[in-house]
Amino acid sequence: MDDRPASTGGEASPRARPDPFRLLNGNVYFNGKCEECRPLCAAVCCRGYALVSLTEEEAKGGRYAYKEASDDCDCELCKKMRELGVRYTLPKQPDGGCIYLDGARKCSIYEERPETCREYSCVNVPFTLHPA
Ligand code: SF4
Ligand code: SF4
Repeated sequence: MDDRPASTGGEASPRARPDPFRLLNGNVYFNGKCEECRPLCAAVCCRGYALVSLTEEEAKGGRYAYKEASDDCDCELCKKMRELGVRYTLPKQPDGGCIYLDGARKCSIYEERPETCREYSCVNVPFTLHPA
């Protein structure tokens, strides 16, 4: 079976590339090159996380939809935010994915994504494969 990811367009890739992941002790580690990995990881980073925290400036700056934790709300999200010490977070879709994840499982605000997303790397984070 040829399970090499399909080209995502735009870039010429005349030579065979190594797999975008390696297996170690039964865990999958991606190389962090999202265009290569996405057909295999299905953007699990933007679907399987707990919260994307926002700074107050990000939340109040008008660029993002956001949820602010309430000190006395008993909903699961507010409880989770208090537990993690997060005051502001990006809202989620009903399936748990980020509200900014589009139908192709790409970030629809990639150039403007929050600092938390910019700093994230999945290179050394073990995953289960979720083929798109
Ligand atoms: S950062 Fe997300 S989309 Fe990119 S390779 Fe890792 S899991 Fe996949
Ligand atoms: S803002 Fe973009 S990069 Fe950040 S979690 Fe949402 S979809 Fe992923």
